[in-house]
Amino acid sequence: MRIRHIKGSDEAVAASQYVIQEPEKFRGNWKKEVFGNDAELFLEVGMGMGTFIRENSFLHPDKDYIGFELNTTVLYKSMKRYEKELTERGMSLDAKDCNLRFIRNDARLLCDYFADGEVDRIYLNFSDPWPKDKNENKRLTSPQFLKLYDRILKKDGVIEFKTDNRGLFDYSVETLPANNWAIKAITYDLHNDAVMNEGNIMTEYEAKFSAKGNPIFKLIAERA
Ligand code: SAM
Repeated sequence: MRIRHIKGSDEAVAASQYVIQEPEKFRGNWKKEVFGNDAELFLEVGMGMGTFIRENSFLHPDKDYIGFELNTTVLYKSMKRYEKELTERGMSLDAKDCNLRFIRNDARLLCDYFADGEVDRIYLNFSDPWPKDKNENKRLTSPQFLKLYDRILKKDGVIEFKTDNRGLFDYSVETLPANNWAIKAITYDLHNDAVMNEGNIMTEYEAKFSAKGNPIFKLIAERA
């Protein structure tokens, strides 16, 4: 989907206290230096408008969250919504008091930003399907991305992946076990799966596609 550029968004993202401008500086020290605690660190790769990760951060103030997004305009929108939601909740707007930050860049750089085993959980929500074979490497569940997750995720860390795209889901169900990941939970109809849907927080894409009647697929994977 083409996103219309918002004037001033590049500058606003570059100046935002919620966006980590030089993430490589914190490699290995996110919990201590950015969040000032030793909480679990949860990362959403390709957060889009970010409802999922913002909602999680409000529901779980005892965890730390990072939303990773390539598109500046999309990240800008999430950042603005975050400020609004903090204000509406009467919470401090000072990033130092917040358990959520954003990184704007390509997920290919994950290992430049996070040390081995530094991340506790990775969320992939409605990742772009890239259906043509020639674009396989762009899929966030392709072997090259799985290798990056393998490095930055702690030993017993998990990947949680949701989508309504059957092609990408089937591809991921094949690719994960072939790359040393075990699928420990799976559903082909999340919203009607009482166990896996418990505590589910919908993303923008999830709300949009489930409203159209599409079933939502979800899997949770850990190291084999
Ligand atoms: N997770 C959101 C949701 O479920 O509503 C957004 C889904 S949207 C289809 C996929 C998002 O992933 C887009 O915003 C896109 O810019 C981002 N994305 C795709 N490839 C990426 C990459 N290599 N690094 C960072 N973000 C990426």
